[in-house]
Amino acid sequence: MKVLVVNCGSSSIKYQLYEMPEKRVISKGLVERIGEEGSALQHHYADEIRRLEGQIADHEEGMALILETLTGPDGVLETAEEIGAVGHRVVHGGEEFTGSVLITPEVIASIERFADLAPLHNPPNLTGIRAAMHELPDVPQVACFDTAFHATIPEVAYTYALPYQLYEKFGIRRYGFHGTSHRYVARRAAELLGIDKYALNCITIHLGNGSSMTAVRGGRSVDTSMGLTPLEGLVMGTRTGDFDPAILFYLADRGYDVTSLNKLCNKQSGLLGISGKSNDMRTLLQRSEQGDRRAKLAIDVFCYRIKKYIGMYMAVLGRVDAIVFTGGIGENASAVRANACSNLEGLGIALDAERNEQTVARREGAVSTPESPTAVLVIPTDEEAAIADDTYRIMRSNPCLTT
Ligand code: ADP
Repeated sequence: MKVLVVNCGSSSIKYQLYEMPEKRVISKGLVERIGEEGSALQHHYADEIRRLEGQIADHEEGMALILETLTGPDGVLETAEEIGAVGHRVVHGGEEFTGSVLITPEVIASIERFADLAPLHNPPNLTGIRAAMHELPDVPQVACFDTAFHATIPEVAYTYALPYQLYEKFGIRRYGFHGTSHRYVARRAAELLGIDKYALNCITIHLGNGSSMTAVRGGRSVDTSMGLTPLEGLVMGTRTGDFDPAILFYLADRGYDVTSLNKLCNKQSGLLGISGKSNDMRTLLQRSEQGDRRAKLAIDVFCYRIKKYIGMYMAVLGRVDAIVFTGGIGENASAVRANACSNLEGLGIALDAERNEQTVARREGAVSTPESPTAVLVIPTDEEAAIADDTYRIMRSNPCLTT
């Protein structure tokens, strides 16, 4: 069965077509700058990337162009009917969705309702779902939620120390994100270590433009660093992560309004805010080597926060079989891994410097010493493959969908 995985942003659609159950990627690409100047489709064909430029007014046009390309001369399908199902990434599933689901009108209504909690993400995700349903009306569509893996977080970890009515009235609690990635690398870590997936205790560290950490006990998420929104927790490319909320009142007293504070915390802080130069870890590592003090400080603050969360989650879990690094920074920046895990031998974490330096560029493996009581692993994440898996599983468990 062919499964199309779609990840829709406000002005982009990423797609990957899988042959399932082999999980083989048969085609992939990206539509970008939808509704803007210079919109284009980038399509991977054989070993080449083809770029098709032209006005793409909205997501429906984008989706139609993807299907045209998949069935055209550079495509891999005879007809779009060969697509057996579409799997969509959806950021916020609130408390309702504890796993991936077949999309029905009720599911769409819920995703719409949770747009309040994820105003930047759920609306474009929904636009993508609607566009795919319009273009492929007879093909089942599945939603995979970033929040779903964290549905097992206990009350004690998801409750904020705010007046309880705010939870009851507005659903203000920790939800957590990047769940598809945390689940994928936790399952893969269990495979690599030869431990049953529901017996594994691990700390998963996803470091990309957005970054988060999860404490996994017995294969289930029991705590995670992102909260009601993806702002909480680790230092990120442009987001603050944890900080004293009173800073906001202090700034409000000095003329900052809600919009500017939102922008400050989400777009102007983090690595960019501290360094004053870039939100890109590669650039900061280079600058730091050249003696840029603020670039070094940004990296040090980033790594120090990770180290503190490792300590917190070791206390939460008691026994930790593995610490797993993933995401663009986690997979590639050996210096960040070395910094975040430095001086943790007392906690049973010892990196092997050489293995650590060599495990980059989507290599997978252990970067700890053989004697380290807790294994430190690098596992390239693959959220699209996880979505394809879930979509395929849902199709298999509903035989009437495949006939
Ligand atoms: P997103 O969260 O947008 O999916 P990624 O997971 O691709 O982002 O991560 C982007 C981050 O990974 C950027 O900060 C980038 O600098 C960093 N990164 C990518 N490759 C390397 C590398 N070779 N060394 C250090 N950092 C890297």
